[in-house]
Amino acid sequence: MTNSKPLLCVHGHFYQPPRNDPFTDEYRTEPSAAPYNNWNARITAESYAPNAFAGNFERISFNMGGTLARWMDLEAHATYLRIVNATQAYYHRYGVANGVAQSVHHTILPLARGRDKRCQISWGIASFAYRFGGVPQGLWLPEMAVDYATLEAVADLELKFVILSDGQVTGELLPGAGPYRVRLPSGRFVSVFVRDNNLSNAFSFNMPAAGEARDWVNEALRGAQPGSLTLLATDGETFGHHHSQGVDVLRALTLPHARDAYAITTLGRYLRAHPPTVEVELVENTAWSCPHNLGRWATGCACTSGRNYWKGALRRALDNLSHDIDDLYVDLVRTSDLASWSLRDAYITVLLGQVTGPEFLAQQSLGQLPSIKQRRLLQLLEAQIYRQRMFTSCAFFFEDLERVEPRYAIANAVRAIALVRYATATDLTGSFHRDLSIAVSEKTGRTGAQIMDEILVQADLGHSPLGNTMERNGFR
Ligand SMILES: [Zn+2]
Repeated sequence: MTNSKPLLCVHGHFYQPPRNDPFTDEYRTEPSAAPYNNWNARITAESYAPNAFAGNFERISFNMGGTLARWMDLEAHATYLRIVNATQAYYHRYGVANGVAQSVHHTILPLARGRDKRCQISWGIASFAYRFGGVPQGLWLPEMAVDYATLEAVADLELKFVILSDGQVTGELLPGAGPYRVRLPSGRFVSVFVRDNNLSNAFSFNMPAAGEARDWVNEALRGAQPGSLTLLATDGETFGHHHSQGVDVLRALTLPHARDAYAITTLGRYLRAHPPTVEVELVENTAWSCPHNLGRWATGCACTSGRNYWKGALRRALDNLSHDIDDLYVDLVRTSDLASWSLRDAYITVLLGQVTGPEFLAQQSLGQLPSIKQRRLLQLLEAQIYRQRMFTSCAFFFEDLERVEPRYAIANAVRAIALVRYATATDLTGSFHRDLSIAVSEKTGRTGAQIMDEILVQADLGHSPLGNTMERNGFR
C-alpha cells in the first residue's frame, strides 16, 4: 500500500427493509415505486445495478443487509452476481475482504439481549460467508447503535472492527479515521474506525457533480498526513438513488488520478497495515440518527413528530412475547439436553436455504429424535426467525404506529405465535394482544391490538396482512 499520499475509504451501507409477507413470503407491490413493482426493484435500477456494472463494488468498502441480499439474489440476479464477483476479485487481489457483515435483521443491538446480539451477528457472519465467501473482519452496526455489550458480542464472534461517528467515542482523537481500539470490560479489544462526518454528510446531502467530486476530497484532505485514512461512510443508496449523479460520483471518487492528493483503500486492507495503538472509550447508547440515547427505537423521542409513546409500548409487547417464545423453546430443547442458543445460531443454514430442516437436525445429530419432536423443534426454530424479524429497526424508526413498518413487526409476531401454537399447543395470542392494546396510533387512534386483529383476519382469509401500499419511506 502506498503511503505517499493520504488515503480515502468510501464505505456504503446498502440496505432495504424486509418487504416479504411473513405468511406467504411474497413481496408486496408498492405503487409509489412506479414504474417499478416495488422499491427494491426501483432502487436496484437507480443504484445497485449501475454501481455494480460501473465496477464500484471493487473499490469500496461495503455491507449489504440480509433482506436486500436475499431479494437481489432472487430478483436481480445479474446485479447480485456482479457484486459477489467484485468482492471475490477483491479478496483474491488483496487477501482481505472489502465487504463487512451486518447483523441480519437490522436490529438495534444495544436494545437486544446478549444472546440475541450474538444471534444477529452470527447470522450476519454466516450470511456473508454464504454469499460472498470468506470470513468478514468487520461489522456494520445498524444505525451505528453501540454499547460495550454489543462490542463484547462482536469480540465473542471474532470480528475485528466496527464503524462509528466521532461523537460516539472519546479520548485522544487524531484527525482521520483511526483506527482506534476500544478496551472492553472483558479486557479484550475491538478496533473502531471513525467516519468523517463533514465529508460524509457533504456527499450525502449536498452531492457535487461528478466532475467536482475528487476536488472536494482533495480539498478536504489538504494537510492530511501521508498514509493517514479518511472515511466517507454513508448509505449506499446515496449513490444513484438519492442523487442521480451518484454512480458517476462514486466512480470518480474511487478512481483518483495520479495528480490527485489521495489514493483509495478499504477498511480491512488498512487495518491490516495499520493496527490501532491509540485507545478510545465508547459513548454508549448512541447512534447516527438519534441523539436521544436510542430513544428513537426504545421509548419515542423528538426525532419523530407527535406523541410517539407507542414505540415503548410496542417494544414492551415484543419483548414480553419474545420471553414467552424463548421459554417454550428452552423447555423443549432442555428435554433433549441441547444447547438452545448455539442450536438457534446454527439454524441460519436453513434460513439461507443451504439445508432443509430435517437435514439440519441430522447434521446436529438430532435425526434420532422421535419424528413428532423433530417437527416441534423445527417449528420452534422457525418461530425464532420471525421473533428476530419483529425487531427490525424500521418498525420503530418513523412517527406513527399506523404505518406498514410497525405492522410488519406485528405480522411477524403473529406468524411466530402461530408456529409456537402448532409446536406446543400454547397460545400466546391473548397476552400479546393485551400488551399491544397499550400502543396507540396518534394519527388514527387505533391500537396495536386492533392492527393485530386485522392481521389475523387477513391471514385467515389468505390476504396479505401487510396490505398493498407503502409510502416512499426514506429508509436509511
Ligand atoms: Zn431521537
